[in-house]
Amino acid sequence: MDKELLHKKIKKDIEDLINNHPPERTLGNLIPLSIFQAVRIGVLTAGCGIEAIIYNIGKDIGREVISRYVDRDNLLESFAEILKKAKIGILEVKKVEENEMILILKDCISCHNVPNVGTTLCHFEAGLIAGTLEKKLRRKVNAVETKCCGKGDEYCEFLVKIEDKLYW
Ligand SMILES: [Zn+2]
Repeated sequence: MDKELLHKKIKKDIEDLINNHPPERTLGNLIPLSIFQAVRIGVLTAGCGIEAIIYNIGKDIGREVISRYVDRDNLLESFAEILKKAKIGILEVKKVEENEMILILKDCISCHNVPNVGTTLCHFEAGLIAGTLEKKLRRKVNAVETKCCGKGDEYCEFLVKIEDKLYW
């Protein structure tokens, strides 16, 4: 599978959203969120390290696509802006320190309004945060979801650990 082609497609869709261009698909790009969420939850029940795979997909897209729209000097504000335009969720900042952040995501595509299934669901979004921030900060970043609608919370919360400088 050619990831680069998929990334190009995501980039085009995001730019269409930014520029208010109509989607190419006759029926539009909107689907009921619950259908997408059912697929996400269904995939997670397969086990076998699926969480890590989904996290890495998010991390790739964060690094290769989303980070293009994020301004290093206005990091969290511009990141929040693009997550909102891409309709992924509403990002809020709870804590920012040199080596650690706590970020909140409301209206998250993966878990908004899901029933309490007893587990966090937003590994894609955690990866997206890690990949985007890693690329912009040039430091190793790990994000773990600590609150999620999937376990009965009102919104997602991510603990973001920012580690050593990466030299690329
Ligand atoms: Zn969540």
